[in-house]
Amino acid sequence: MLSINKNFKILKNSNNVIISSFTTSTPTQNNNNNVKRNKYINVFRSKMFIPFQDQKMETDLIESQLLMQKGGLIRKLAVGSYSTLPFAQKALENLIKVIDEEMEQVGGQKMTMPKMIPKELWDKTGRWDAFGKDLIKLKDRRENEYCMGPTHEEVVTSIVGNEKLPFNNFPIKLYQIGEKFRDEIRPRFGLLRGKEFLMKDMYSFDVTKEDAEKTYYQVKQAYHNILDRLELPYACVEADSGNIGGNMSHEFQVVTKAGEDKLIHCSNCGYHANIEKAVGLKSKENINDTFDPIFNIVRIETNQKKNNKHIAIVVNDSQDTFNHYSIKKHYNNIKSIEPITKNQYTDLLSKHNSKENGELNYQIFVDTNASKPFSKNQDALLEQIKSEFSINLNKDHKIIDSDILIEAKEGDICAQESCNGSSKLGIKKGIEVGHIFYLGNKYSSSFNATSCKNNIVKDLEMGCFGIGVSRLLAASVEALSKSGKEIDGTVTKDKITFPKEITPYHIIIVPKKESLQKDAEEISQQLQQQIPELKGRIIIDDRHDANVGHKIFESKFLGIPYLLVLNIDKSKQTNYKVEYDYGQIKEENNYLNQPDTLDYFKNKFI
Ligand SMILES: [Zn+2]
Repeated sequence: MLSINKNFKILKNSNNVIISSFTTSTPTQNNNNNVKRNKYINVFRSKMFIPFQDQKMETDLIESQLLMQKGGLIRKLAVGSYSTLPFAQKALENLIKVIDEEMEQVGGQKMTMPKMIPKELWDKTGRWDAFGKDLIKLKDRRENEYCMGPTHEEVVTSIVGNEKLPFNNFPIKLYQIGEKFRDEIRPRFGLLRGKEFLMKDMYSFDVTKEDAEKTYYQVKQAYHNILDRLELPYACVEADSGNIGGNMSHEFQVVTKAGEDKLIHCSNCGYHANIEKAVGLKSKENINDTFDPIFNIVRIETNQKKNNKHIAIVVNDSQDTFNHYSIKKHYNNIKSIEPITKNQYTDLLSKHNSKENGELNYQIFVDTNASKPFSKNQDALLEQIKSEFSINLNKDHKIIDSDILIEAKEGDICAQESCNGSSKLGIKKGIEVGHIFYLGNKYSSSFNATSCKNNIVKDLEMGCFGIGVSRLLAASVEALSKSGKEIDGTVTKDKITFPKEITPYHIIIVPKKESLQKDAEEISQQLQQQIPELKGRIIIDDRHDANVGHKIFESKFLGIPYLLVLNIDKSKQTNYKVEYDYGQIKEENNYLNQPDTLDYFKNKFI
């Protein structure tokens, strides 16, 4: 008989992690350091805080939200803010471990930066105003203003900039994992789009552009490694750099039908891009040969001291959604870029008629796809623009022929050279879980973050690399799990699946009879003693007031791949039934004895 220490008081294990009252364990004395070590930890379901929600759920929830809420993994506190309950917290911490390992592989150094950021830092980059209402602002008792950090470029660049490090100290890659804050206009979908979320953000500092580019691709590879380890369906897509700035950017998208982002892809050449950035060619039947211009207006402000207000008039020939990001490459150092309506333009024009607001600079772009009929009618086009926009344009005002100014859509022709016009574009939906940017000197120049080599002082070249950690957890559940939404109060096939690497527990043991409790504890202990990976990762469902069917039903919401059911056979012996259910693979082994069961798991884990 094993002697079990019922440690309902608090006991510390070797890592000084407190083993709480839902476990029992056998401590042994370690003579070297006098620390009590446990050979095994029995985790009892009856004492765990996993508040399964039996009542009917709201019907407008997406799968991950429904499953995690029902399973007792998350709870909503307010719109856009969720508590991560202990079970999901374990998965989250396993996920953080994967991320930490991959960041360390590329030389990442972990740190923590304050979440309350003084206004002065954000004023230096102009983002205090430019970030708009997404920025959560507050004041302390002395009326000092702060924002709750949605991103930390300003903080990290000021820290590095203050140190004046020698050039051979670079590259430096600093990262943190912590809460970020954003006053989302429409927080929704549980952990996927909250006002407060867990984020991994890394910032890289290099001396030269070439080195910074190397760093960019090195960290990009680390992102591939993370998502490969999680075995998630994902795509790395070219992306727009939004208000973070810079000119090279990729997104990592978990592909799932609940995704909010549209991804254009070509199955022939592997081209992937966010629809904001995607380029396509119109298929021949959609090319218009008549002169019938449609005008789109974009307002652009740059960070230049003079001539920083621009109006782009973009001419194309269809009502297709115009992609205003496609003209970004014609401007340097953009502060803001937004499409505006004709009425907004008229208001703007009246403001700029007075000298103190500065002049508007006009550029005219014509979509390459539509330029043929327009090039024949250039004078007519200029005349039409002059009268529609109440502006004076010289007869020789330059018209910029720019490529592909409409949002690419499904069925367009792939514009990549390697495809040679032979393949059509498709569309997928994705959840953005990672976004990486090459920033150049956008932030280092504001904070005087420089390096000195051969007496030449240069701004540092930066990159920034984000992973939405809590979002990645929810996106994993979304992509891997199944939910048959409730119909008339019954749910038939709900099941959470976590990526194998982050699953909080490997096995749940359900004894069918109260008398099998001891057998359950014994097999749990033996498994842990013989298979180190299972230590602390087996749950015994010891609730004698719940029926077995319901216990098994609930266990499907915990993403535990192995279910071990104990029963008594006709000859009064204990028999073991193992069910394995992960992704498409299912296994069932019935009527095993104890040694067979141990062998089964040894085969799986050792
Ligand atoms: Zn292609």
